[in-house]
Amino acid sequence: MPKPGELTFAAPRRAKPPRHLADLSPAERREAVAALGEKPFRAGQLSRHYFTRLADDPAQWTDMPAALRERLATELMPALMTSVRDIACDDGATRKTLWKLFDGTLVESVLMRYPDRATMCVSSQAGCGMNCPFCATGQAGLTRNLSTAEIVEQVVAGARALQRGEVPGGPGRVSNIVFMGMGEPLANYKAVLGAVRRITDPSPDGLGISQRSVTISTVGLVPAMEKLAEEGLSCTLALSLHAPDDELRDTLVPVNTRWPVREVLDAAWHYEARTGRRVSIEYALIKDINDHAWRADLLGKRLRNHNAHVNLIPLNPTPGSKWTASTQQRQDEFVRLLEAHGVPVTVRDTRGRDIDGACGQLAAADAG
Ligand code: SAH
Repeated sequence: MPKPGELTFAAPRRAKPPRHLADLSPAERREAVAALGEKPFRAGQLSRHYFTRLADDPAQWTDMPAALRERLATELMPALMTSVRDIACDDGATRKTLWKLFDGTLVESVLMRYPDRATMCVSSQAGCGMNCPFCATGQAGLTRNLSTAEIVEQVVAGARALQRGEVPGGPGRVSNIVFMGMGEPLANYKAVLGAVRRITDPSPDGLGISQRSVTISTVGLVPAMEKLAEEGLSCTLALSLHAPDDELRDTLVPVNTRWPVREVLDAAWHYEARTGRRVSIEYALIKDINDHAWRADLLGKRLRNHNAHVNLIPLNPTPGSKWTASTQQRQDEFVRLLEAHGVPVTVRDTRGRDIDGACGQLAAADAG
């Protein structure tokens, strides 16, 4: 367990997961197939099976000779994870899956279906090194980075469940992706960027989900935020602010001691300027900790005149934490004060709270 405030940026070195089609760019896939002595066009067929048809069973790849199917499956589509457990709530509309990776590492992902969309919340790391004291994932420390394919596979699994009609509401598709599961996505930059490409590249190279429907949430790693702004993407950036002043944010989001509020907001405005995308500011409302009227005012002052919107998250309970969500009255007042500054505000729903699948509750520790 990390000590309070301790930060871990570099993930421990571990054995790498086996190479998978979803780790590779379209050009790398052709090279990989050619290196196996096969015609490069097979890479396109394989991509169509995986990304477009979501067909993971080689028996369904009828445009290839049977022996080749087996070979390509072994070489380029090894099983990367197995589902240990699925728990659902909201009459099946919210579903949390616990995954066991090739080396026994556990991670979780959450699928949330709404009348008009289906959102997949994915993990980018096993554990997290950012140590925010109100987040369950942060308390266990960082186990390792996930590979691009390990991230993409979480999305594909959700897409398959919807395609096969396993989620109440009839067959459907994943429309939105949020990097809000376990881990700090910008601390695993390369793998996350690869996953964003696979998720958003049009079919058959990728899943063809709109970049605008992909949200990357960060504690505020400024150099990585600046790099992300230059990638030519139109993804949404979400910044976990949680306090408008350095004194409090130093304790709630310990990485603030490296990159304080002013710098992290400047990086958010830079992202906004480069991409034209409205930035989302996440603020978990914690009773008597960060829910004061003067903090709402300071937040409003810092955000007004910027293309930002505040997403208030009623604090979800985590094991061993003494903190609770703000009262309804305080929450309403916080909303009112921000709106008085002309800052748009929404309150995030608490989907998955009863299955420990809501924000900050993913721990993947209780495999049993
Ligand atoms: N590491 C990234 C993504 C993780 S979680 C980040 O911090 O942005 C997504 C959001 O859930 C973050 O804003 C995080 O601060 C918030 N969160 C963590 N624990 C929470 C809790 N107990 N209740 C409500 N929100 C929480």
